[in-house]
Amino acid sequence: MNKGLRRPIIAGNWKMYKTVKEGEELVNGLKRELYKVTDVDVVVCPPFTLLVNISDMLLETNIGLGAQDTFWEEEGAYTGEVSAKMLKDAGCQYVIIGHSERRQFFDETDESVNKKIFAALKNALTPIVCVGENLSEREKGIAFDVIKKQLDGGFKGVSEVDIEKIVIAYEPVWAIGTGKVATPEQAQEAHKYIRGWLSKAYGTDIACKIRIQYGGSVKPDNIKGLMANEDIDGALVGGASLKVETFTAIVMNSR
Ligand code: PEP
Repeated sequence: MNKGLRRPIIAGNWKMYKTVKEGEELVNGLKRELYKVTDVDVVVCPPFTLLVNISDMLLETNIGLGAQDTFWEEEGAYTGEVSAKMLKDAGCQYVIIGHSERRQFFDETDESVNKKIFAALKNALTPIVCVGENLSEREKGIAFDVIKKQLDGGFKGVSEVDIEKIVIAYEPVWAIGTGKVATPEQAQEAHKYIRGWLSKAYGTDIACKIRIQYGGSVKPDNIKGLMANEDIDGALVGGASLKVETFTAIVMNSR
């Protein structure tokens, strides 16, 4: 559906990896290799402790900066949390919300995802909102029901104007960090379902503009096959974003 309207976006989710020094080395390598890339949005999402330094390193580059989570309140007695206002202040333009690891290990729910989306938007951050089914849900044939519930709950009350500011990441949980990538057909089918949901909720013109990334064991040798599909507009990359060579190759092969 009008793929040309959507600029590809490749984001690296570093998860809980990299010290300050290691992160700086990675970013220096990416700056060196990717400075000529102007036709793809490239984003890195390091741990909180690296954000300020990396934000300085990325000034006047074509690489964007994202965080891996946010809390929904702006400030207050919430020990251990970081707000969207703070992320903006630290130099972020993006924030990942609802990653399956947050849903699995930290009690993230569709309701908390919804509140975090509003907090991100209020602070002019682009939310990268993750949805996706686990293995047993896929095997039971209820993958799309699960995705629908996550979309219904996550985007509750999000306006037509705001939905255009959001990136969605379809990440089948069974493919994350397992080396088991979804086939391009499986991924396209789910992306088409998500775009159909967007069409129903917001109309086709808006649905055509929203970028949907695939995530789950994306590597330099499978990104091309994924990107060849009509509704796949980029990737959210975990493991392969931790090395200059592999992340660079994914960006290059996505074009
Ligand atoms: C992720 O962290 O969102 C992810 C998709 O990880 P991996 O690429 O390692 O499967």
